[in-house]
Amino acid sequence: MELNERADIDTSQIEDGRGSGGGGGIGGLPIGGGGIAGVVVTLIIAVVGGYFGINTLGGGGGESTGQPLTQCSDDAQKLQVLECRNGLYVTSIQNYWQKQFPESFGEQYKPAKTHLFSGNVNTACGAADSGVGPFYCPADDKVYIDLTFYQVLSKQLGAPGEFAQPYVLAHEYGHHVQDVLGTEEEMRRRQERDPDSANQESVKLELQADCYAGAWAHSAASTTDKDGDKIFTSLTDADIQEGIQTAGQIGDDALQGRGGGEVNPEQFTHGTSEQRQKWFRVGWESGDPTQCDTFKAGAVS
Ligand SMILES: [Zn+2]
Repeated sequence: MELNERADIDTSQIEDGRGSGGGGGIGGLPIGGGGIAGVVVTLIIAVVGGYFGINTLGGGGGESTGQPLTQCSDDAQKLQVLECRNGLYVTSIQNYWQKQFPESFGEQYKPAKTHLFSGNVNTACGAADSGVGPFYCPADDKVYIDLTFYQVLSKQLGAPGEFAQPYVLAHEYGHHVQDVLGTEEEMRRRQERDPDSANQESVKLELQADCYAGAWAHSAASTTDKDGDKIFTSLTDADIQEGIQTAGQIGDDALQGRGGGEVNPEQFTHGTSEQRQKWFRVGWESGDPTQCDTFKAGAVS
């Protein structure tokens, strides 16, 4: 995977809430987004199904995060800086949906910002800490990520490939797509009507977000910035395999097994490794988000 140093990041879509910037990330005071403090956010986020499904405390060492986004205007440096690379991923993912969303769903896409935080953050969905992993908050239409999560992914969860990063972001933007389409709200209503189905509904929502991530991956190599410069100069099947590998490493069964406990399918909220890989592939192979109908009867058993 190679990024194009001449591609511009759409910085209007990235918020840096990591305090004064610089200084290694962990423990910095985030600038809250005007969210409602004091709400037990893990519950709310679990209910909306927007979090990434990993509850690991502590973010590992603070290496390579905390660089201010202002560095990203320097072409020579841009590709060396984690923040800038992630900014390019967000630009690619949203440019994909700007074009694909109307084609697939007959509506306009509404952009959603990515908010970088460090340690903890206030959102319209409540307060959260890095332990919940990256998540999407439908109440303020933002993707939240503490970039130290990638170290957790690499060192603790066995997904070191770089394509794991855009996969994670594309999954969260998949939740945004579900929010814009009303899929997520419909699912919440079904969960309220039938609480026994809540986890199964959540699994379908998560697998659909994986499938949307795959659909983006299918077209990622042709995404461009606002000037028409390609964002990726190279994206190979081997890179995509890293995305599929990541999906496999964060299946509910894999995570529960790693937690040392028994694997209990009734508690699954994100799908098994096999399911997550399968649905990422459905999106990737078809390149067609309308194929991602995990809610269709019998699509997910
Ligand atoms: Zn998710």
